[in-house]
Amino acid sequence: MKKLIVANWKMNGELSKINADLSYYAKLPETNKPNVVLALPYLYIVWAKQRLLMNSQIKIAAQDLSHYRNCGAYTGKINGSMLKDAGVDYVIIGHSERRTLMGENGAILIHKVRNAFESGLIPILCVGEPLSARDDGSYLQFIELQLSGLEDIESFKDIIIAYEPCWAIGTGKIASLVEIQEVIDFINRYMQKRFAYVKITLLYGGSVNSQNVGDILALENIGGVLVGGASLKVTDFTAICEKI
Ligand code: PEP
Repeated sequence: MKKLIVANWKMNGELSKINADLSYYAKLPETNKPNVVLALPYLYIVWAKQRLLMNSQIKIAAQDLSHYRNCGAYTGKINGSMLKDAGVDYVIIGHSERRTLMGENGAILIHKVRNAFESGLIPILCVGEPLSARDDGSYLQFIELQLSGLEDIESFKDIIIAYEPCWAIGTGKIASLVEIQEVIDFINRYMQKRFAYVKITLLYGGSVNSQNVGDILALENIGGVLVGGASLKVTDFTAICEKI
């Protein structure tokens, strides 16, 4: 199966960069494109979709969505139906920056996953332990707790789970292949036991680059990678895609 490469641009990029980068990607031959998903800042999504990616295989993700399902008096929020309207297919939920910097908790995140399902978006739910849980050996319990809220969702649909150890995000310190495989297998078992009737794709994220991506994607049960820093330069990101 084709691997999925999700590029998380976070709060980076201006129109000129989006224009230049996406024009470049749009011209790449199909063979250079695994299933690429670009998680752009909200403001640039419609622009990218309409001007550059109309007939492209590249898909768009939002980096978040509101936990409020319906339209209403929620200043500053964007819901799943609006994202769907704008041509978005995927949405990142529970990135560690949102959990730690913006205080998002498990209850809020489960509303978001439910809203994504109801809006026809595929959630990319990020889970991963802080360094303290890795060091004291409680990392699997930590991740199990992050996953446990999913059991409250009634109409479960296809989902992507990204294992992103917090200590490997943006640090250049990648988890070892053994560490990645252990957690991916754990998440796989957890999800298969409860939701085997949907398609579950597992990603790894945290300091992925063109040197390490080949080994990561060769692990069992890995459906792709989530790339932050290295997705911001076309040359780096193209080099990653070429390794697939
Ligand atoms: C991320 O922020 O999801 C991420 C994986 O970042 P980086 O690749 O820079 O570690």
